[in-house]
Order: sequence, then structure tokens, then C-alpha cells
Amino acid sequence: MDTTAAQKDIRDFSGQYPRQLWHLFFSEMWERFCFYGMRGMLVIFMVNQLMLDDEKANLQYGATQAFVYAFTFIGGLFADKVLGYRKSLFWGGLLMIAGSLILAIDPKQFFFFGISFTIVGTGFFKPNISTMVGSLYREGDPRRDAGFSLFYAGINIGALLGGYLCVATGKGELFGSMIPAHLTWNVAFGFAAVVMVISLLTFLFTQREMGSIGLSPLLHMDNTKRKTIEYGTYVGSLLVIPLIMTMVSITEYTDLFMYIIGPATLVYLFYEMRNLGSPERKKLLAALVFIFFSIFFWAFFEQSGGSLSLFAEKNLDNKVAGLTLDPNGVNNSANSLFVILFAALLGMVWVWLAKRKMEPNTVVKFGLAFLFLAAGFYIFYYTKFFSNPEGVTSLNLFTFGWLVITFGELSLSPIGMSIMTKLSPARLQAVMMGMWFLASAYGQYFAGILGANIAVASADASNYVQLVTYADGYRSLALYALIAGIVLIMISPVVRKLMQEVK
Ligand code: GLN
Repeated sequence: MDTTAAQKDIRDFSGQYPRQLWHLFFSEMWERFCFYGMRGMLVIFMVNQLMLDDEKANLQYGATQAFVYAFTFIGGLFADKVLGYRKSLFWGGLLMIAGSLILAIDPKQFFFFGISFTIVGTGFFKPNISTMVGSLYREGDPRRDAGFSLFYAGINIGALLGGYLCVATGKGELFGSMIPAHLTWNVAFGFAAVVMVISLLTFLFTQREMGSIGLSPLLHMDNTKRKTIEYGTYVGSLLVIPLIMTMVSITEYTDLFMYIIGPATLVYLFYEMRNLGSPERKKLLAALVFIFFSIFFWAFFEQSGGSLSLFAEKNLDNKVAGLTLDPNGVNNSANSLFVILFAALLGMVWVWLAKRKMEPNTVVKFGLAFLFLAAGFYIFYYTKFFSNPEGVTSLNLFTFGWLVITFGELSLSPIGMSIMTKLSPARLQAVMMGMWFLASAYGQYFAGILGANIAVASADASNYVQLVTYADGYRSLALYALIAGIVLIMISPVVRKLMQEVK
């Protein structure tokens, strides 16, 4: 079939969604099951099985997640320049399967080895499947945002299932009677491997329908030369794994990496900017403001997999909405459930406000995201007033905190991705999307440091004193989030000017 014709057909689809979106939806859903399943297990596994103290586990968590997101930047670049999105996705999926299998075989022995495979794998998979969603639409197609919303729902269905199932299985709370106690973590990591196989098979069986979308950017090149460069990339990404393993396991190296990568990408961006006119430069500066603030958002939000995991394990009961549930599972997955339930509702609220000419602009939405975040963390703080003398407090109230934070996420995360594409010139789209994810890397990195500080303050304390220390830590985060929100809303007219006609 003529691939150009096929691509044309895809982008000229009728109805609300192209059918290829559903294929990407399911592939990403299973990949996020694997990713969020792992994320939810990291800290609990490190503390209970690797016997790390809480501070070290938080730092290690931050380092791991920082590398995952930093690699999405690198994976995006290699897809753009060498492999194309499809091969990147396939290779990334294979590495993620390998990583999960290694962990399923012996998570204690091979912990950092397996994790390093999944770091590189996610880097090749995650950014490129999102870009493929964008490629299903022509520029200016008004159905694009709805497509991304549906995709975001898929992300969160996977995150919900994986976030609950994996950690609850690892802890022996789920399927405990069927799995020998010494194998629960192997099975939990095994789940991640199985779903990643499903993700990859889904992609393999459906990719034929993608026309020319995501094919190699080097097709014009001589076959042997292209193959050499491609295999060079595969081999290079394998060779880098021991290096990542060292950098993740020794967090001082992560510090060094994080000091370098951000400034280096900024220098690169400023270098690229020299050829742009003033309007484009202003837009990129506006994009940098969004990126800068998103770092703080993720640093607080990602306490979820870090300090909040420990808080959930030690300081929360297991009753929510009349159900008995594992508090770690709830901490990992409540947010995803709320995204699925409320994403469409919030979308309708924006439309309703827009009709009355009252819809806040993107900068103000970002500001609102911080206000929701502040309120959510204040609720986490407030749980201390519902504690029993043993330092165990209400999972119900905690879950309500996640509901409030979810509205913050919805005001920032999907909107942030789309504003990156709107503010960047075509040539810099991948780089800017990469920088957006790099902000998540910094957020994750700081999340680990913040969580470690809270953990240090409560080391060797009774469960009750620990609860109070964590709660007070969350009150500080609430205050910082509030300040960030107010600053953003105050500077919104300036940023709006930089954005010019972009909304
Ligand atoms: N929850 C979203 C996802 O997994 C966004 C994550 C992020 O950008 N930090 O895709």
C-alpha cells in the first residue's frame, strides 16, 4: 500500500477519534500498568526487603524516577533523529520486559540491574507513543485535545490497575493465600513483565495500520548505513545500562547528572534560539516558565511514590468508602481513578466557562493547579487530627486529599503537554516535549530529597511522632504550593504577553 496515502487516510478520519488511537490507548495503558506498578513498589520494597532506611529509600526513589524521565528526553531525541517512533517503542518495550523479568527472577539480588533496564526502556517508549498520538491529527484539527484526553484516560486506567495490584501483591495483601510468602514480590514484578508483553503485542499487531506514521527518519539513507546506525543505537543503549546502574545506586552520581543535564539542555535551547525571530523566542520563554513551575508541581505530587508510600504503610488505616483496601494500593491508584472519573467533567467546566467568556487562561490554570495541590497537601497535614494514639489515621480523609490534588493535575499535566506543542516551532517540538518531561525528572529528583528530609526528621520516632512529623512536612509543602500558585497568577499577564496569540 502507498504509505503516504494511508497516512492521509488516517488524518482525514471521520468521527471523534481515529481508530488507531484505540490501539495506542491499549498499548500505553499496559505500559503504564507496568510503570506505575513498579513505581508503587519501589520504596516499600527497598525499605522492607532491601532494608534501606527511609531516608535512603526516598533518595533512591527520586534518583530512579529522575533517570526514567531524563531518559524520555534522550529517547525522544533518538526517535526523532535515528529510529523513528515505532522502532523506539518496540525497543523500549523489549527493554522494559527484560527489566521486569530480571526483577521477577530475583528482585533482591538484581534490583538496580532490573530497574536500569526499565529506565532505558521507558525512555524509548513513553515520549514516542505520545508523539504518535499527536501524529494522528493534522495541524489545527480541533479533535486533537479530545484525543489526548482519551489517551490520558488510558494512561490512568493502567496506572490504577498496576498501582494497586502490584504493591498489594508484593505485600501479600492480595492473592496472599495463593502465593508462597517468599515469592510475593517476584510475582508482583512478574505482573509488570506480563502486562508489558501484552502492551508490546498490542502494538505489534496493530502497527500496520499506522501508515507511514512513526517510520524511520533515515529511510532515504542507504540500507546498510541505516541499519548500522540503528544497531549502534541498540547496542549503545545496552552499554549504557551498567553506567545507569551505578548512577542510580550511588545517588551522589545522580546529583551530578542532574546538575549537568538541565543546564546543558538550556544551553542547547538558547543556541537553537539564536536563529529564531523575536516572536518565536518569546513563546519559547513562556514555555520555559511553564516548564520551570511544573518542576515544583511534580516534586510535591510525586511524594506519592516516595514519602507518601511510607506514610500510607505506617500511618493509615485500611478503610475507604466502606471498603477494606490496602492503603499503599489506595495511595498509588486513587489519583488515577479520580482522573478517569473527573477528566471529562473538568473539560465540561472549562467549556461552560468559555461560553461565558470566563475560562481562565493557561497560566492561570497552572496557578489553580498549585492552589489545588496546596489544598490537597493541607488535607494530608490535617489527617494528624484524626489519628489514634498509635499514629494510625483516616484513609478516607487521605483519599479525599488525592481527589483535590487530582483537579490540580488535570489543570496542569494534559494542558502542559499541549501548550508545549503550541509554543514551539516545528523544528523544536521534540526538544520542547523532552524538556517538559525533563521537568518531571527534576520534580522526581526533588521529590526524593524532600521525602528524605521528612524521613530524617522522624527517624527512630514512635509511629505517632512520625505521623506528626510527616503531617507537618506536608503542611510546609502546602504553604510552598500556595506561594507558587499565587506567584503564577500574579505574573500571568506577563506570560500571556510572551505567548502572544497562543491560548
Ligand atoms: N501521569 C502522566 C503520565 O504518566 C504524567 C506524568 C508526568 O508527566 N510526570 O503520563
